[in-house]
Amino acid sequence: MSDTAVEPPADPQVAADHTPEPVWPIPSSLSPSRVSSFTSCPMQFRFSSVQRLPEPPGVATTRGSIVHRALELLFELPNPERTRDALQRMLATALDEYSTHPDYVGLRLTADDKIKFSEDCDQLIERYFDMEDPTQIRDIGLEIRMAADVGSLQLRGIIDRLELDDDGELVVTDYKTGRAPSGRYEQKSLAGVHFYSFLCEAVLGKRPSKIRLMYLSNGETIETVPSQQSVRFINTRTNAVWKAVERACITGDFRPNQSKLCDWCSFKDWCPAFDGNPDLAATEAVERHNALIAVEATSS
Ligand code: SF4
Repeated sequence: MSDTAVEPPADPQVAADHTPEPVWPIPSSLSPSRVSSFTSCPMQFRFSSVQRLPEPPGVATTRGSIVHRALELLFELPNPERTRDALQRMLATALDEYSTHPDYVGLRLTADDKIKFSEDCDQLIERYFDMEDPTQIRDIGLEIRMAADVGSLQLRGIIDRLELDDDGELVVTDYKTGRAPSGRYEQKSLAGVHFYSFLCEAVLGKRPSKIRLMYLSNGETIETVPSQQSVRFINTRTNAVWKAVERACITGDFRPNQSKLCDWCSFKDWCPAFDGNPDLAATEAVERHNALIAVEATSS
């Protein structure tokens, strides 16, 4: 065959029936936070949710996990035993559980850092007790994993605590260990929580009467009442974001979206917005993470 041979024109019918192979595999399930992360930065979403590249642990995230664990352990106790002393013991247990966890060891804390880290956890659980009396909470589930279908996507999430109010209605409580949002961002943070009312309604067949965000950093509680409209909005929004995710996976077009979040992005070195090469992330991010784990294994 000549080097200059020309391909015959494609049969239009065949072309019309041909569905292009996606450049990236399309995820089949996502958490609400991953759905939102696509809207913040599609490029970061590609690294973390499509390629599933490992990220180094962060102090705030690990601290949050430990405090959540301590509160989970507290609520496993009978109501009268949920005291401040008990929560201190549960925090000690949680810290002990995490002492060999990669998310803690990988932080490479010095002796002084470890003291500060424990003190910060302690401060958060002390503040918790100023916010509510756990002996009065009628909890019916802790760290509940829920999943519901939205079109071809499975939406899944973990509810920190599900309880009953005085009227026997469902209340979802979400502990927050980061900073409370300023007024401007309050509705945005509540929008994320509406996912949980959507999941409750889809899985339990009942919409919660209230959703509470407890900000342990400053003692503030933000509450909202989910409505039929807010649940419907989640469905519509998730479907729209999901279609965009599918499109990006098919075309391979995940755009970087620069914002303040770039300062905390684990993938900045491979981001085209910062002259990085995204194609190198698959090997380099994994190598970097493996090296971190190897150091942990040697030093632990
Ligand atoms: S550095 Fe910024 S623009 Fe690049 S992937 Fe991360 S968040 Fe997106």
